[in-house]
Amino acid sequence: MTDAKADSGRNFRFATRAIHAGASPDPATGARAQPIYFTNGFVFESTEQAADIFAMRRTGFSYSRGSNPTVAALERRVADLEGAKAAVAVSSGQSALLLVLMTLLRSGEAYVASPRLFGGSLGLMRRLDGRYDLHPQFAAGLTPEDFEAAITPQTRAIVCESIVNPCAAVMDLAGIAAVARRHGLPLVVDNTLASPALIRPIEHGADIVFHSTSKFLGGSGQTIGGVICDAGRFDWAQRDDRYDLINAPWPDYEGLVVRERFPDMPFAVACRLFGLRDLGPGLSPMNAFLTLTGIETLPLRMARHCANARAVAAYLKDHPQVAWVSYPGLPGQEGAALADRYVPQGPGSIFTFALKGGEPAAIRFIMGLDLISHLVNIGEIKSLAIHPASTTHRQLRPEERAAARVGPETVRLSIGLETVEDLIADIAQALAKLD
Ligand SMILES: *Cc1c(COP(=O)(O)O)cnc(C)c1O
Repeated sequence: MTDAKADSGRNFRFATRAIHAGASPDPATGARAQPIYFTNGFVFESTEQAADIFAMRRTGFSYSRGSNPTVAALERRVADLEGAKAAVAVSSGQSALLLVLMTLLRSGEAYVASPRLFGGSLGLMRRLDGRYDLHPQFAAGLTPEDFEAAITPQTRAIVCESIVNPCAAVMDLAGIAAVARRHGLPLVVDNTLASPALIRPIEHGADIVFHSTSKFLGGSGQTIGGVICDAGRFDWAQRDDRYDLINAPWPDYEGLVVRERFPDMPFAVACRLFGLRDLGPGLSPMNAFLTLTGIETLPLRMARHCANARAVAAYLKDHPQVAWVSYPGLPGQEGAALADRYVPQGPGSIFTFALKGGEPAAIRFIMGLDLISHLVNIGEIKSLAIHPASTTHRQLRPEERAAARVGPETVRLSIGLETVEDLIADIAQALAKLD
C-alpha cells in the first residue's frame, strides 16, 4: 500500500511539485530519474511480514498487481497535485471509472450522472446498467438544480466531468458539490480535460477525482493509463448501510473495516483491495514512468495548450464558413462566466465547432487537414481532429448524441503545442478547399 505523503512536502508551489512530488533520488543507487521497477514480486523478510502485508496489518510491496514502487511514485505525484490523500493508478481512464463505480455501488443502486460526458464513459455506464444493474440517472441539464432533481433514494454518488469532452463546457463544481453534500453523496469528478494544472476539483468540494492519464498528464500520446484520487474527507459513516466495501467488515481480511483502519483514505484503500487485488486492471511500471515524466512539464504545456486553443477558436468563430464554436474561453460564448470563474487560464484545448455546410463539410474539412492529424486521442502535444458522431460517440443513440452536443455536423479539435500560425494556416487551407 502507498499513501500520498510526498517526499517533497506540500509547501512548494504547483510547477515545483509537478517535477518533484512523490519521487526522490533512488536511495540504492542515487539515480535521479524515477527507476522503473520491473518486478512482479518483492522478497519478504519473514513469513510474519508476508502475512501482515496480506492482511493489511502493515503496508509494503508484495505483488505488482496491487502496488509497485514506480507506480506508487506516480500515485503520490497525482495525489499531491490534486490535493488528495491518496491515489490508485489503473490501466486506463475507462478502468478508473469502472473501479470507482464498482467500489461505490452494489447491483440495484444508482448514481446521478451528467448528461454530457465522454462517449466511452456513456457507453460503459449503459453496459453496466444493462448487465450489472448499476443505474445511471442522467440529469436533465448541467446546472446544480438539474443534478439535484435527478437524485432518488437509490442514489449513491454524483458523477460529472470538470470540463466536458468534447464540448468544453465548464461544470459548476462548487454548486454540484453543495448538492452532493446536502444529500450525503460523494461527488466524483473526471478531471481529464482540465488536469490539475487548470482545475483541482477537490478545492471545489469533490470527494473522488479520476483521470485518463492517456491525455494531458502523459502528454505525448504514448501510453494509456488512469488514476483515481481520494480526497479523504467524505463522511462514509453517516450512512453505514451503504458503501459496504468501506463501512462493513471484510470477512476474508479478518473482519477488516476499511474506514476504521484507514480513516484518511478509505475510498482509495477499498478501490485498491477490490479494484486491483480482486479485479486486477493495474498499470505497468513502464507506463507509470512515462506518465510521471510527462507530468513534469504539465504546467508549461497546459498554459500553451490554452493559449493556442483560444487563438484557433477565435479564428474559427470569425470565419464565414463556421456555424458555431463551442469554446467558453472566448468572451460572449455560452458558459463563459463559469469558464472565467473556474479556469482563468482557459478551458483547456479540446473543443468542437460546426461548419455551415453540415456533415459533408465536416468530413471534407477533416480530410483536407494536413498538419493536424485525424485521430481519436486528445490532450497530446500534437494537434488532432476527429468527427465524433461517427467515431468516439458512435455507440450512442441519436438523442444521446444530441444531449452530448455531438451531432453529425460537429468537428472535435484537440489543439497541441505547435506554432499557432501554422495551425491556423492548416485550418485555413482546409476551409478554403470547401468553397
Ligand atoms: C479518454 C477519456 C477517458 C477514457 O480514458 P482511456 O485512458 O482512453 O481509457 C475518460 N474520460 C475522459 C474525459 C476522456 O477523455
